[in-house]
Amino acid sequence: MTLTGKLLIGQQSISGHRDAIRAINPATNAPLEPAYAGGDEQHVEQACALAWAAFDAYRETPLADRATLLETIATHIEALGDELVERACAETGLPRARIEGERGRTCGQLRAFARTVRLGEWLDVRVDTAQPQRLPLPRADLRQRHIALGPVAVFGASNFPLAFSVAGGDTASALAAGCPVIVKAHNAHPGTSELVGRAIARAVKHCGLPEGVFSLLYGAGNEVGIALVSDPRIKAVGFTGSRSGGIALCQAAQARPEPIPVYAEMSSINPVYLFPAALETRCEALAEGFVASLTQGAGQFCTNPGLVIALQGAALDHFIQSASERLSRCPSQTMLTPGIFSAYETGVKALAQHANIAAKGMPATGPNLGQAHLFVTQAEAFLNNEQLQAEVFGAASLVVACRDVEHMRQVSEHLEGQLTATLQMDDSDLPQARALLPVLERKAGRLLVNGWPTGVEVCDAMVHGGPFPATSDARSTSVGTAAILRFLRPVCYQDFPDALLPAALQHDNPLRLRRLLDGQREA
Ligand code: NAP
Repeated sequence: MTLTGKLLIGQQSISGHRDAIRAINPATNAPLEPAYAGGDEQHVEQACALAWAAFDAYRETPLADRATLLETIATHIEALGDELVERACAETGLPRARIEGERGRTCGQLRAFARTVRLGEWLDVRVDTAQPQRLPLPRADLRQRHIALGPVAVFGASNFPLAFSVAGGDTASALAAGCPVIVKAHNAHPGTSELVGRAIARAVKHCGLPEGVFSLLYGAGNEVGIALVSDPRIKAVGFTGSRSGGIALCQAAQARPEPIPVYAEMSSINPVYLFPAALETRCEALAEGFVASLTQGAGQFCTNPGLVIALQGAALDHFIQSASERLSRCPSQTMLTPGIFSAYETGVKALAQHANIAAKGMPATGPNLGQAHLFVTQAEAFLNNEQLQAEVFGAASLVVACRDVEHMRQVSEHLEGQLTATLQMDDSDLPQARALLPVLERKAGRLLVNGWPTGVEVCDAMVHGGPFPATSDARSTSVGTAAILRFLRPVCYQDFPDALLPAALQHDNPLRLRRLLDGQREA
């Protein structure tokens, strides 16, 4: 397919008028064709008008039809074949195997949401039948289901050009909930975004759905993004990116006459706890696993292990030495964009002012190559310097040496909200792990034992969320099928005649949903 460099508003390709965005191959710094002229407020207006016009029809599509749309999108993305893989590699510097894996994850995610839609559990149907004879007052017939919030604005992420961009988790979960989606493409990968966006538009057409179900906009300099979040027809926002970007979108959403929820996934340093027995008995294996997790994908994962917490002593010294040796053999890796590379360099310099450098990876030999770094500090210093817990996006991590278990607890209490917290522990570490657990439950969305935080499974039980600044709303997840809940709200129908009720709530339960009926869960 020839890339057009145009916005996609419903089924129409439209040229932008604003400053052009051009992808840059971060491995060479070479610009890639074509240029994508940015959209303006008029384009946002058009996309929102179409999305609003589509909303009432789309949110009431039969569950099977909506599931078919998600599956058709996956099929159309797969049909893009090598062109998609090659363009995504060129725009991100990510290796082919990673992009192919991410494509599989993206399509698997769409199909997982299709299964979720068909099951209908998310409708959360509750029925309290009328009790006309109840004393002292009769009870009305009350029926609740969940409906879609409205059109959703999705901001593509730089670090997941497929799985968290145009057809990624935010889009899949919003479409599954019955919400039309308008994506603001990430400027780092406009060609990948166009290919995927056109695959979605083809799927919408193929399924005979209103064109406003999906639009794709481009724009630099925040204009399009802020106009989108401010439009009264947008009812929720999904975002993955920087803390400052996420906060700006939350503020714009709150400043509207009608504030709306923003589900922003922002920054997390993902503490890893090395408990004494584990550190004593498998120090080398821990160092190996840690360095592999830290350097995977040039460290550009939101779940990257940016903090290691352990008791000071010979075992920790051994771990630092072993991890340092391994890290020093790691080649530097191309980062996603010149901007992200430069932010990494700045972050590493800032850390170096406040902590000791234990090791560096192999030096860079070309443009935008991130060199891995391992830092060490004492718990006192960590507790007294907020800069030491700022996310450095890339393969940099800080080891915090604690005097005793109480010190470890103080460091944990001091942490900001996190996506994950990892416990490396053996059986004899159980009492210490148990004592720390209540703190970690308050701090993080996902707690792991004897694994590494990178690699987030897309499944029903996953939580990829956590208290601020990991996300702007700790009550939700952006990965896994529970992400659909972000884009729903409950509606109660009182004393409705059966003919006026939505099918999900009708007396004879035509959708065969597992309802909560008069306090009992149906089989
Ligand atoms: P970003 O700068 O936050 O941008 C992400 C998206 O949000 C872009 O489309 C951007 O559009 C938009 N945006 C940002 N600020 C905005 C604002 N004030 N108003 C309206 N729209 C706004 O993130 P990035 O480009 O992916 O990477 C920058 C840094 O974010 C990285 O160096 C890293 O520190 C962090 N990051 C963290 C994660 C994570 O998962 N923890 C993931 C990715 C990035 P414009 O380009 O038009 O501004």
